Amino acid sequence: MRAEIIAVGTELLMGQVVNTNATFLSEQLTGLGYQIYFQTVVGDNRERLNDCLSLATERSDLIVLTGGLGPTEDDLTRETLAHFLDAELAIDQAGLEKIIQHFTIQGRELTDNNRKQALSLVGGQTLTNPTGLAVGDFYQTPSNAYLLLPGPPSEMKPMFLQEAVPLLQDRLPQNNQLFSRVMRFFGIGESQLVTVLADEISGQTNPTIAPYAAPNEVRLRLTAQARNNLAANQLLDSLEKRIMALVGDYFYGYGEENSLVKETVQALKDSHATLAVAESLTAGLVQSTLGQLPGVSEVFVGGFVTYSNEMKQQLLGVEEATLAKHGAVSRECAKEMAVNTRRLTGADYALSLTGVAGPSEVEGKAVGTTWIALAKPDGTVQTQAYRFTRDRTYIQHSAMMNGLNSLRI
Ligand code: ATP
Ligand code: MG
Repeated sequence: MRAEIIAVGTELLMGQVVNTNATFLSEQLTGLGYQIYFQTVVGDNRERLNDCLSLATERSDLIVLTGGLGPTEDDLTRETLAHFLDAELAIDQAGLEKIIQHFTIQGRELTDNNRKQALSLVGGQTLTNPTGLAVGDFYQTPSNAYLLLPGPPSEMKPMFLQEAVPLLQDRLPQNNQLFSRVMRFFGIGESQLVTVLADEISGQTNPTIAPYAAPNEVRLRLTAQARNNLAANQLLDSLEKRIMALVGDYFYGYGEENSLVKETVQALKDSHATLAVAESLTAGLVQSTLGQLPGVSEVFVGGFVTYSNEMKQQLLGVEEATLAKHGAVSRECAKEMAVNTRRLTGADYALSLTGVAGPSEVEGKAVGTTWIALAKPDGTVQTQAYRFTRDRTYIQHSAMMNGLNSLRI
């Protein structure tokens, strides 16, 4: 099943808004088993949109349109599609009632333009809008299907997921659904992972393996073609087992939305442990990243950003002699930072990071040199030296990821 996406909006063409709808829809449709052949962006213009619809109708089975369902003059997607399909538009009663209710609550007067948002293609299926006013549409002809979605992502996504997905699934031939599983790895580079898995990757037909790298980690998307979830899981489970036998040491979790931070925090939650952090080269990156996770307060108590040597002494009580003898980027300094942070905060674990983020060397230590220490509940301290590469941002990110990884107990 070939699909294509047409994003309508002059603001997209002008570069004022990033076309995130296309990214979301492509990913979702691929997951459902559609093959995306084209993504188009077109301005709020009847003629050009009509041209896009003609072209899309010739080359794709499913055409997904987003944007231009609003009340204003430039919102003309629905009218243009109706004209293209030679379909009538009629008010959807439930949609209109929702609009009337919204305006009554707001104490505002309803205009004809607002009513327009409840117009729906006759002969199609109206899609309700869980988070907004404009209704969507699903319209099928003998050869094509057209899905009409609003532009704002906050409206488009829920409408797509709740209303459109079941209809799109019904259109797919049996046996042709794609099921994916994402496996995430840390501590191994993409090229190394691909080399180790070369036999699995080259011999793949069903399921397939697609590796892709993100900063400091690699993901594998395993995709099976099957008639249902159960059959797909059998295929995916057996491939996963083979992958784990080869690179299981680096595996840390599943899913597109997952992250090493989440896994680390979950591991701490599972063992009812708390964490404090003292940062030098990352200057708060670890703590602000932790802070972005809802519910992190269960484990993260706080910490320190001690960038200068003075701060390391004053706030954390790192010995002057340690700094004089070994420098701030040293096992000894990292160790004292961690131990003292644990003592000062009363946390079960204290993580410390000290290193040279660059661009120039410090204390005669090369850019990227980093020490990470973890003070543990049993009083022991684990230390590890690293030599990260690339630019400042990447070095800081690498330090953070390796620091968090050391916590996955
Ligand atoms: P509204 O009722 O808000 O006018 P609409 O369905 O008419 O909704 P548009 O007018 O095309 O949608 O876009 C409204 C806003 O939604 C845009 O200003 C933009 O912020 C966002 N938006 C529209 N299309 C996209 C897209 N393809 N990707 C990301 N955001 C988008
Ligand atoms: Mg609009």
